[in-house]
Amino acid sequence: MAKFQWRNRNKQLGTKGKPPSKNAIKYYKKLRLNHARIANMRRDFIEKTTTKIVGNIKHVCLEDLNVKGMMQNGKLAASIARQGFYEFRERLTIKIVASGGSVVLASQWFPSSKTCHNCGQINPELKLSDRIYNCPHCGTVIDRDLNAAIVLSQYGEVNQFTRVGCTRIYACELEGADSPG
Ligand SMILES: [Zn+2]
Repeated sequence: MAKFQWRNRNKQLGTKGKPPSKNAIKYYKKLRLNHARIANMRRDFIEKTTTKIVGNIKHVCLEDLNVKGMMQNGKLAASIARQGFYEFRERLTIKIVASGGSVVLASQWFPSSKTCHNCGQINPELKLSDRIYNCPHCGTVIDRDLNAAIVLSQYGEVNQFTRVGCTRIYACELEGADSPG
């Protein structure tokens, strides 16, 4: 897609006093269709995945994306991923709330990876390259992502009704889902 756009970078639609070339029209039509196709694929993926999740679980805790960290990369891929994440979150929230569950959004500053799921202590020494969580306090050894997932699920359970430490809990949407309109 990027290659396709680069190759056609000089094609212009309607320069002053000059009608657009046939190739330019063809290119922009193809570009439009390509964008639509990618958007459809993403939507389809989000629909299928969220339906699958709602079929299996009721209560979800999501981590907010570190938008600031991603902006520093300044990558287009990051902005697309971010947009996809927001869409995913919205669809998942609507479906889970409709089925009587709850969605808790943990702050992007919540140290899910650095917190020990067993003793709750924070290990500030953990680096991004450490795939195994080694707790210096209680000696727990566990896969890094698994630990973060357990910590998040604990966070979701604790904060489900209290709103403490959350940037946003979708309780208002829960009420809205019950009332007609
Ligand atoms: Zn520990």
